[in-house]
Formats: sequence, structure tokens, C-alpha cells
Amino acid sequence: MQFNAGRRALILAGLAMTVAGCAAKAPQTQASGTPPATSGRPTETPSPSPEPTPSSPHPEPQLVTPTRDEIIERFNAKVPQHWGLDVPGVISTLPAGATGVALTLDYCGGPGGNQADHTILNLLRQHDMPATLFLNSRWITDNPALAKELAENPLFEIANHGTRHLPLSVTGQSAYGIPGTTGPGAIYDEIMDNTTMITNLTGKAPRFFRPGTAHLDEISTQICLALGQTPTGFSINADAGATYPARIVTQEVGRAQAGDIIIAHGNQPNAATGKGLAEALNQRHGRGGNLVTLTTATTT
Ligand SMILES: [Zn+2]
Repeated sequence: MQFNAGRRALILAGLAMTVAGCAAKAPQTQASGTPPATSGRPTETPSPSPEPTPSSPHPEPQLVTPTRDEIIERFNAKVPQHWGLDVPGVISTLPAGATGVALTLDYCGGPGGNQADHTILNLLRQHDMPATLFLNSRWITDNPALAKELAENPLFEIANHGTRHLPLSVTGQSAYGIPGTTGPGAIYDEIMDNTTMITNLTGKAPRFFRPGTAHLDEISTQICLALGQTPTGFSINADAGATYPARIVTQEVGRAQAGDIIIAHGNQPNAATGKGLAEALNQRHGRGGNLVTLTTATTT
């Protein structure tokens, strides 16, 4: 399976943004409408390494999910060589040959992050447009009724956005000033505590995982895959952590082509993301749409 490494590399050099602890980056191709500077700049530049992943980006079917102790024993001595948004094992685009575009929305939770932008959800429902919703434990806990409603709507796929919204590291690496997990055991907890919560919500384990800040190392990706979930990045950053003005959001979503994975935030109703996404989705709907969930795109 191949992914568009060139496009991934192109967008990697962008400016990092963060809102409410949920980080993303600006695309290099943006010519105007520079988003406002924000606090929380990254301390390290992610390596734009386009090398192929060492193994399939899809987890092996898990007959039995490894235990926490088994994960620690298997991964404790491993030393990562990569850190950032796009490391070996992360999918940033859909599989080669995919005909759709995957819209992924993050619901980060935590202080300032527990809201929902109903403009976006209503539009998706109105146009029957599917999306993959990455829910954090804190958001689910604060929005039990809405989380259940979203889980019961077949338009929406529920994915894993972590338990405490931490960068996923075996060495405690930070992203945007947020300290990451400190080892395989903490990574297990960050993935699996929310897996339990989502499984209780949907009746099945999530298939895709995106860490808080979207930063991780390649040992973390291996742990994620061992636990049956695909670490998921993105190829189009639609809102740069909900900091872009609406017209830039519209522009970025509008340039999506088959195979792209779009990231935006569904938890910032006071940001311009909703307005910009609404315009972009209306335009896309006019062209017949072609949005897919990650699972649909990776199993057909
Ligand atoms: Zn987030």
C-alpha cells in the first residue's frame, strides 16, 4: 500500500498552531490570509521524512489485545528515531486508489475544549455527509448525550483521540509545550482507557487513533498498531487548531482531492472553522460530494 509521500512532505514544513491544547499546522502553500500567531509554538520541527512505512499501516486483526504488561515488555527497550506529525506507521492519506476524501473532526476535550460546533454537525446531517469524529475521553465525559447520539448515527465513525489528549511518546517528548507520555505503559493507558469508553459508547473498539497534538514517535505507532488501531495523521490542515479565518478554511477544504485526509476541529464553535467548513461543504455538496469515513476508505 502506498501513500502520497510527496504531498505529505510538502505540508510538513508549515507553521504550527495550537488552540485549547489541540495542535495542528498551517499548510506551506497558503499564500495569503496568514493566521494569527498563537501561543504554544513547537519546540521541535517534525522531520519531513517521506520514507515508506516499515510495515503495513493497518493493524493486524487482533484475536487478543495485548495486555499492559505485554506492551511494556515488548516495547520498553525500544528507542525511537522519529518524532513529529508524520512518522513511519502513521497514515496521512487514504490508500492509493481511494476515490473519496476523508473529513476528520477532532473533539479534544479539556479546559476550553469541551464544546461542540453544531453548525458543522447539522450540515453533515443535512447533506448526508459522512465524517470520522476523533473523540477524547474528556469530551465524551462532558457530552454524554451528544456522544451517544453521534455514535448512533451511521453517518459518523467514532475514532480515538486519546484519554488525556497527550502527545504519544516513549520518552516524554513534548509538543507545543504539552508533555507527552513517558513510556509504553502510559501509551497503553492513553490509548486503551479511551478505547474502553468508546467501546461502551459504540459497542465496538475504535479502528483509528490520533494523539492529542497529533505528535508521536514510531515506537508509539507500533504500540498503537499492536493494540489494533491505526495511527492517523492528515494531509490537509483545514483550520490550524481552529485558528484560521473562515475563508482560509474554505480554501483549504476546497483543494482536497481524492485520497486526502482533512483535519479540522468540531469542538470550537466560537472559531471560524464552522463558517468556513460550511461554505466548503456546501460547495462540495454542489459537486456531488465524495466524503468517506476512514473505515469506508480503507476497507473498500
Ligand atoms: Zn485534539
